[in-house]
Parts: sequence; C-alpha cells; structure tokens
Amino acid sequence: MKRRTGQDPSITQSWRPATRAIRGGTARSEFGETSEAIFLTSGYAYDCAGDAAARFAGEQVGMTYSRLQNPTVEMLEQRIALLEGAEACRTMASGMAAMTAVLLCQLQTGDHVVAGRAAFGSCRWLTDTLLPKFGIGVTIVDARDAQAFEDAARPETKVFFFETPANPTMDIVDLKAVCAIARERGITSVVDNAFATPALQRPMEFGADVTAYSATKMMDGQGRVLAGAVCGTKDFIDNTLLPFTRNTGPTLSAFNAWVVLKGLETLDLRIRRQSENALQVGRFLEGRVPRILHPGLASHPQHALAMAQMDAAGAIFAVHLDGGREQAHGLLDALELIDISNNIGDSRSLMTHPASTTHAGVSEEVRREMGIDEGMLRINVGLEDPADVIADLDQALGKVGL
Ligand SMILES: *Cc1c(COP(=O)(O)O)cnc(C)c1O
Repeated sequence: MKRRTGQDPSITQSWRPATRAIRGGTARSEFGETSEAIFLTSGYAYDCAGDAAARFAGEQVGMTYSRLQNPTVEMLEQRIALLEGAEACRTMASGMAAMTAVLLCQLQTGDHVVAGRAAFGSCRWLTDTLLPKFGIGVTIVDARDAQAFEDAARPETKVFFFETPANPTMDIVDLKAVCAIARERGITSVVDNAFATPALQRPMEFGADVTAYSATKMMDGQGRVLAGAVCGTKDFIDNTLLPFTRNTGPTLSAFNAWVVLKGLETLDLRIRRQSENALQVGRFLEGRVPRILHPGLASHPQHALAMAQMDAAGAIFAVHLDGGREQAHGLLDALELIDISNNIGDSRSLMTHPASTTHAGVSEEVRREMGIDEGMLRINVGLEDPADVIADLDQALGKVGL
C-alpha cells in the first residue's frame, strides 16, 4: 500500500499538475482507504505523559490539538502547496480569515501597505477600515498601473496587497512588474489569486512572495463550503503566519478541508471548461450589451497581459448596461436558469449586481473610483451547456429592451 507517496517530495516534485491535484498530500491510515479520511477530532491522545511533553516541546513529530494540526487539513495544505509550487500552505476557515491573517501577522503600528483599488468588498474593508484602526497606513492605487506601486512605496511600506483579476471590474495587475518593485525594496507582495487559482495562474512564477485564497470559490467549485488558504515560503508560513493563526484560531474544519480536497481533484477540468463556456457567453454578450469586461476577449484593455499571465481567462466577467440599477435588476429578475447569487466559482451559472450586493458596503465614491456603476453586472459561468446559458441571457436581455 502506497501510504504516504503523496507527501514524499522526492516523488511529488516529479508529478505534473493534474497528478498533484488528485494525489498530492494523501496520507493513508492503517485501513488503506483510497479516498482521504475525514479526521473529525479536536484532540489527540498520547501513549505516555513523556510523549505528550515531548510533542509539546517539539521533540516528537505528531499532532497535539486540531487548532494547530489535523490530518485531513494537512493533506489539503500539502495539496494546495504542491499546486501552487509553494514551499508551504496554511488553510483557514474562510477567504477573509486568510486575508486578515496574512496582513495582521506581518504588520504593526507605523507600517504602511499599498493596496489595489479594485478589490473584493471585504478586502477593501480590511485596508480602508481595519488596518488604519491599528495605526497602519494604507495607500490605495490603481493597480493596473505598476508604476503607481513604486510611487506609493515609502521606507515603512511592508506589503503590496492586490487581486488579479480583480473582483468585479476584472482589472489585471502586471505580476512581474509589481512583484519586482516589491522585491527590490524588501516589501512582501501578497496576491489574492481567488479568481484564477493555481490551475490558471501561479503568481510565484512571476515573483510573488505570498498568495492568498478564498478556496470557497473555484477550489471547492460546487458552492458547498467556506475555506481559505495562504501559500508562501516555509519560513513565512512557519515563523510569521503560524504564530498568529495558532493563537487566534481561524482554523479550517476537517470536514470542510475534505470537501475542498475533493474539489481540487476536478479543479483543472472545471476551470478550463468554465473558462471555455465563459468565452462563448462573453462572445454572445459582446454584441448585445454596451460594454463587457472579459479578460479573454480582445476588447478588454489588458487582454494581452491577462493572457501572458493566465493559462485561460477564468469563469467570471462583468458587463455594463446603460440603464442603471433598474435595467440591471430587471435583467436579473428576468433570468430563468441563471441564479441571482453573489457567490462565484460555482458549477452553476450565477449573476449579481455588485453595487447593491458585494460592494454595497463600500461608499458610492469608492465604488465610482473602482469602476463599479449601477449598471454593472457580474457573471460566473458554470458547467451547464453554454447554449442554455446564452438562451437564458438572450430572453432576459429581450425583456429589458436589449
Ligand atoms: C470571495 C472572495 C474573498 C473572500 O472569501 P470568503 O471565502 O468569502 O471569505 C476574498 N477575495 C476574493 C477575490 C473573493 O472573491
């Protein structure tokens, strides 16, 4: 029985991505189960008091408490690290737990962060509200312009924090250029890679120090659980992130870790098919709506950069209607197949109006700066037959006069 081949670097390093996604991290129990086991246990028992003491002293390999380690969670962490090409990974209870931890674990009063303007609403809350509360300075930049990071950097800048593609405006950040500026200045670049996932984009290949994920999205991929992850060097994960997360406890449950393990087994298949479907839907919409922001279409102002960084454009894009909220809500209400939902990464096609949902919490002024107007709609194209998704959009557009 091949019990731990999924965890032996001399074997896993030679595996190609699709193999890593299915076998990476696997550690079998004495029963030799083929699918990973779910270890629903909060604690661990020891053969003798001396073993407990040795384990707490770090002198004996083994687990002590599931806030710190869990076999199912560890399998997922090893699998994500392998897919990312990172030395180490730590999972978290949600994407926002991962974003919060990755920032707070390395920042203190007096430090400074440069963050991308277009971002997930709660990520903007972290940079606009939480960090300043602790005396951490933040400069928000238009992340499409690499020079803006250079111009905003100060001697006390510790972190560059951005998403690419960004939610929901589909802004693309030049990973190579921005990460090089960070490297030169000893700044840690943190990339929120939720939209692309390591199946389509591996920021570390372009010089990123740390990647952070909402695994709720494409990694689970079927709209079931919340999960997050942070990848980096072993030194960063062990010595910067772990002291923070072990003591604050944003731990992923073993059950949710198992669901994401199963999700990763089909990630590559799903994201490539959803990318193809999203391109077909995008091509249909291109002639039908006043404006479309799809990184896979030549009409996207950063199409060439997106395609240089990503293997495919992903499942998500945005459109603008001229009729404001009334027309946008009207279109959503006319949908018969596509669900009105603010989630993304699901195998179901979903559509939302960011200004009244995901980005309702940011001020109208910030929304305007980010490029989110009342006529914007974001779509996640799922695994249904794209002809059915197109037919649904066709009839719904007709009902709002488009
Ligand atoms: C959803 C999302 C998050 C937050 O993740 P949760 O799992 O919902 O906490 C962060 N960043 C991006 C880009 C997202 O899409």
